[in-house]
Amino acid sequence: MFYNDINCGTKLDDGLLKDNEIIAEINSLKKQNDVTILAHYYQSIEIQGIADYVGDSLGLSKIAKEKTNSKYIIFAGVDFMAETASILNQDKHVLLPNPESCCPMAAYLTAEMVREYKRKYPGLPVVTYVNSTAEVKAESDVCCTSSNAVNVVKSIAKEFDVNSVLFGPDSNLADYVEQQSNIKCIKMPEDGHCYVHSQISVDDLKRSRELIKDGLVLVHPECVREVRELADFVGSTAHMYNRVKNSKIEEKKFIIGTEDGLMKRMAEDFPDKQFYPIREKLICYNMKKHTLELIKYVLENLDDPMFEVKVPAEIAEKAIFPIVKMLEIS
Ligand code: SF4
Repeated sequence: MFYNDINCGTKLDDGLLKDNEIIAEINSLKKQNDVTILAHYYQSIEIQGIADYVGDSLGLSKIAKEKTNSKYIIFAGVDFMAETASILNQDKHVLLPNPESCCPMAAYLTAEMVREYKRKYPGLPVVTYVNSTAEVKAESDVCCTSSNAVNVVKSIAKEFDVNSVLFGPDSNLADYVEQQSNIKCIKMPEDGHCYVHSQISVDDLKRSRELIKDGLVLVHPECVREVRELADFVGSTAHMYNRVKNSKIEEKKFIIGTEDGLMKRMAEDFPDKQFYPIREKLICYNMKKHTLELIKYVLENLDDPMFEVKVPAEIAEKAIFPIVKMLEIS
């Protein structure tokens, strides 16, 4: 069974009716209030459906900076994304519907660890994945996402006139960028990883190829090197989306090695293609902590401080530079 079938067949009518009522209320509340809803590709398809913008970290950072005029931004993503939006929009209220929606990868790297790496490797630029805390960003020279990491590393290495950079917290992305750029990426720390992407194994990939013989394998750069090297395409969520969007007519089947929200988005947007998960349950449970009910509740309680993500001014003042620098390079 490919994903398009699952999407059509698993929803109970009662649930659909209830969701439709909540969606109508959310849309009405959005109109009454000055609110923009941003949703990451890894959100449920229902939440993507009520968002004003859906995208990856880079796309949503750009939208947060350039296109949001609303007083309130509801961010259906994880904490670091809401922090980034808040840093770029210090005059707005950025709200995270479930305050417990956090990225475990960000916890691999603290600001004190970055300071230690800087002491150990003086003169090397610090590149941090946006999947990091605001405090870590404040210690960085430039941020990156999986969409622009290679370009960012090449650009900052040229600017600093060096052949190595400090890179964290994702060790697999660091390894991928080093392969693509020929610039050494010293990992901060050695073992930072995403539990969703790093669980994809070579066996998963081989098994999927056996089952879907003419399927193209697309994986995320947060996957381990052995998996990336066997895939047909390695790219961020936006790159994968565009690879499918621009695929040849005869390319019908895609085996997807990233969080299942992107697969569902693509199944909706490209109904003439077929999508297969590279393994079952590729779910970021942290992203999935938001629900339609919670978003409706936040819309009814926009000024409840429980939902607001606010980075302390002294951190935001420093963290904005590497984020803006990344956006300029992208
Ligand atoms: S998919 Fe991985 S990197 Fe992305 S938010 Fe979830 S845990 Fe963090």
